[in-house]
Parts: sequence; C-alpha cells; structure tokens
Amino acid sequence: MSADSSLTFDPRQALEHAASLCERRGTRLTELRKRVLEIIWNSPTPLGAYAILDVLRDDGRQGAPPTVYRALDFLLEQGLIHRLASLNVFTGCRRPDSFHGGQFLICRDCGQVDELTNPTVEELLRAEAACRRFEVLSQMVEVLGRCPDCQRGAKARDR
Ligand SMILES: [Zn+2]
Ligand SMILES: [Zn+2]
Repeated sequence: MSADSSLTFDPRQALEHAASLCERRGTRLTELRKRVLEIIWNSPTPLGAYAILDVLRDDGRQGAPPTVYRALDFLLEQGLIHRLASLNVFTGCRRPDSFHGGQFLICRDCGQVDELTNPTVEELLRAEAACRRFEVLSQMVEVLGRCPDCQRGAKARDR
C-alpha cells in the first residue's frame, strides 16, 4: 500500500466540492470550467494548457486556447487549482476552501506533485518575510526531488 494521499483522493468528490464552493461564493463553475478542472484531476501528473486543450478537442469541443486560458484563470482565482511556475503546469488543489500560496514536492522523474498542507510552513515564511519588512503577495514553494516510487525504481536499476 502506498501512503501517497494523491491516490486516495477522489476526483469526483473534488468536482462536487468545487461546484458547491463556487455556488457559496456566488461564482459559476460553467460546464467548460468544470470539464477543465476534471481533466486536471483525472491526470496522474500536472498538465500544461496545451495538453488540456488536446483532451478538450478529443471531447469534440472547438476549444480555442484563449477559452482554455480563461477557464484556467478562473480556476486559479478560485483557488481550485495551482500553477507550478517551474514547469508551467496546473494541478488540482486539495484544500480549496481557504486561499493559500501552496508548497509542492515535485518529482523530477515521474512528474508527480504532492501539495504540502502544514500551515506552519506558510506561517514561517510569512514571519521571515515580515522580519525583513518584505510584503508577501503570494507564496509558492516548489521543491524539486524524487518521489519514493522513483527512488525505489532507481535503486532497483542500480543493482
Ligand atoms: Zn492548494
Ligand atoms: Zn516520481
């Protein structure tokens, strides 16, 4: 059994939760926005905008890049997804109820991403910035490394 929480997260639940969040906030998770979110959640690794566009085209939609970017912007604004700047890809947020920057462990080998959920990390960075009188606008921490599976695979290959 893997301890990876991403494997136990149900994309359908994430979509239902997103829809009710938007309703509470008075915004609308339109069909396209919902589909884009679903595509992101269904992917085992974060996706770039063009990969999302490809899936939409497979759906038979005439999705133009600006439409997809607008949907992504909406999902980002609502905190339903995060953008990983280092790879220019999008990943679903596991705790979209509260707005946050997000800290991520990114596997260099398989591309899997794990979002950290310990608020202490964000508070510590905020306090350090405050000590330096630095005004924090957003906090994104991207930690590059290798996930447990890839480490095991690498060890198996080494033998
Ligand atoms: Zn998040
Ligand atoms: Zn990996």
